[in-house]
Amino acid sequence: MMTTSNCRHCGHNLSLTFVDLGTAPPSNSYVTAEQLAEPETYFPLRVLVCDECWLVQTQDFAERDVFFSADYAYFSSTSKSWLAHAQSYVETMAERFDLTTSSCFVEVASNDGYLLQYVQELKVPCYGIEPTHSTAVASREKGIETHEEFFGRDLAKRLRNAGKSADLIAANNVLAHVPDINDFLAGFSILLKDTGVVTFEFPHLMRLVSECQFDTIYHEHYSYLSLLAVDRIATANGLHVFDVEEIGTHGGSLRVYAQRADQQPYPLSDNVSMLLQRERDAGMATREYYAAFQTSVYDIRNGAMRYLMDAKDRGLSVAAYGAAAKGNTFMNFCGIRSDLIEYVCDMAPAKQGKYMPGSRLPIERPNKIEETKPDRILIFPWNIKNEVAAQLSYVGDWDAKFVIAIPQIEEFSP
Ligand SMILES: [Zn+2]
Repeated sequence: MMTTSNCRHCGHNLSLTFVDLGTAPPSNSYVTAEQLAEPETYFPLRVLVCDECWLVQTQDFAERDVFFSADYAYFSSTSKSWLAHAQSYVETMAERFDLTTSSCFVEVASNDGYLLQYVQELKVPCYGIEPTHSTAVASREKGIETHEEFFGRDLAKRLRNAGKSADLIAANNVLAHVPDINDFLAGFSILLKDTGVVTFEFPHLMRLVSECQFDTIYHEHYSYLSLLAVDRIATANGLHVFDVEEIGTHGGSLRVYAQRADQQPYPLSDNVSMLLQRERDAGMATREYYAAFQTSVYDIRNGAMRYLMDAKDRGLSVAAYGAAAKGNTFMNFCGIRSDLIEYVCDMAPAKQGKYMPGSRLPIERPNKIEETKPDRILIFPWNIKNEVAAQLSYVGDWDAKFVIAIPQIEEFSP
């Protein structure tokens, strides 16, 4: 297997480990009943830090196809809180940047059109770019023009030559999932009109570290981003970061605003220098900051294991909710199997009846909870715990409790 230890942005040798989570199968490689008799392929799940540009990145060792599956695509429209976020984003951007019926709004990673449908409502012309076939089809069914490709320099040039330059590009929750971050960012400086703006939303590395959100680490998630790193990488690829906001999504994200470096129609906000300074004050430009993370991760694992083993000793039954990447990283790193958590339920029909990769926890429909009445329900997606708890509020009928494991093990009542 090919390995490389050079930074994806600057090529500097990567000598510092941020966290080593052992080995895990790709988080979307759900196991069918027939495959239970077969072996699974595990890859190292190790995250390194570049001490030149501070890009935190998974170790490189495979083609992206291994980690990219169209079969289990996440449909953004299934989350109500996510839809509300998208609608609010569109309204805010339309007002701030005066988007009209003669503007062009583009979304990269447009998924099933969960966001562009609100752009359509405002009658602002738009199109999406989405490489996953199943979600691209769903997007077209909403009447949204959708280009089924990966974004980068090449696609940006073709779109620009076709007269499809953008006034506003939304690239939300995609920057961290891109293997070639230079090619991806350079694409925006090509596709933006002279006065165009691109916004990137991504989970903030400072929050990942301070709240020990190690379960947001998985192979498909190539980069863990600070403003320090994004500002530098954007600048190297023809973009100028002119504003930044902290937002609540995914456990604490940044929304970064960038424009073409050769145009710069918008003034530089103080928000940028203030956040860069806060990151430096936190130590994000020092090796020590990153080197300390592994110990915090072990502490969380040990606390969760003690809790689950104690529950077992007390005769309590435990189920889990949310068969997605967070749960997979958590289960595989902690070494939890079905003796401690009996099953996990998930809304997605494509996952039901299958098994979690590695841990092989059976995936059930949500109504399994009503049938089996578990004493404890561990919610893997802690970032939407209130939404999940509201959906499952009936578990109070048999005095069950909800549990989250991050930033520390914590029970709460419905
Ligand atoms: Zn670097």
